[in-house]
Formats: sequence, C-alpha cells, structure tokens
Amino acid sequence: MILKIVKYPEPVLSQPGEPVTEFNDELRRLVADMFETTYANQGIGLAAPQVGVSKRVTTIDLSMGKDPKDRLVFINPEIVFSDGKVYEEEGCLSFPDIREKVVRAAKVRVRAQDEYGKWFEMDGEELMARCMQHEIDHLDGMLFLFRMSALKRNLNLRKIRKMQSAGEW
Ligand SMILES: [Zn+2]
Repeated sequence: MILKIVKYPEPVLSQPGEPVTEFNDELRRLVADMFETTYANQGIGLAAPQVGVSKRVTTIDLSMGKDPKDRLVFINPEIVFSDGKVYEEEGCLSFPDIREKVVRAAKVRVRAQDEYGKWFEMDGEELMARCMQHEIDHLDGMLFLFRMSALKRNLNLRKIRKMQSAGEW
C-alpha cells in the first residue's frame, strides 16, 4: 500500500521515534509499505515518521526498486562509527522540490536490527553513507533543513512559505 508522505512542518517529523520492541507482521507490513511508497515517489530512502509513524524504522534502496538485493531495512539503527566529512547536495521526500548541500560524514558504520529483530552491522560510504545519516536523523526528529547553513535554511523556509500560500506544498 502506498502511504501518504507528510511534509514539513508536520509535528511528527520533529519528534524522536519510539524504539521498536515487537518484530511482528504489522512491522513487516509497515516496511513493505514504506518500500512501495518510496518507489512511488522516486526516492531512495524513507523513515517511518515521514509516513506519520513515530517509530525507529527506516528503509533504503539505492536501486529505487530495480534490484531486490538493494532493499535495506534498519530498525533501531545507531551510527557506531563515522569518518571524514563531505559537503554534497541532498533532498528529502518531506521537502519536495528542495535540494541543498549539507555536511555529512564520508563513511559510517550502522548497527541495526532487521525486520525479524536480528542485529547486524553495515558500512556505508558516498551516497549510502549520506542516505543512512539522513534517515537516522529522521528517527531523532532531525531534518536536513536544520543541517543547512542559517542562510540556506532561511531561503528555503521562505520558498516553503511561498509554496504553501500558493497551495503547492
Ligand atoms: Zn528525509
């Protein structure tokens, strides 16, 4: 099922997600729906708060649905190691039409559970590292708008307000 993606400033986006304690069919349904929703919106990653569910669940698929091996599920994820610094452009499905450069670590190691509760660790670099950090930020209620410089943040806030008053947001 394709879920509705909530946009900034929906309050759920700014709340830390609850840790997942039950690895049941309802959770796996949510994960499947999150992938379907990501593909329908041509995204590469999604966090549960973006579909209005305040839980520590995120899904990433850099192939955008082309390769089933690329479907990654991170539940209760934590960054256990990070290295380097890169300044690259990114976007967010909760901020349509906004792309901006933000600083991220170049490499990260994430520890997380899969949809059956099994713990694993995974290293990411380049786009994967950026996506992992962006999605894990969502689970802490942190949005990429607040990783931008104050100048860029204010410019984008103005753009959002303009789109809101034009009924385009
Ligand atoms: Zn996002």
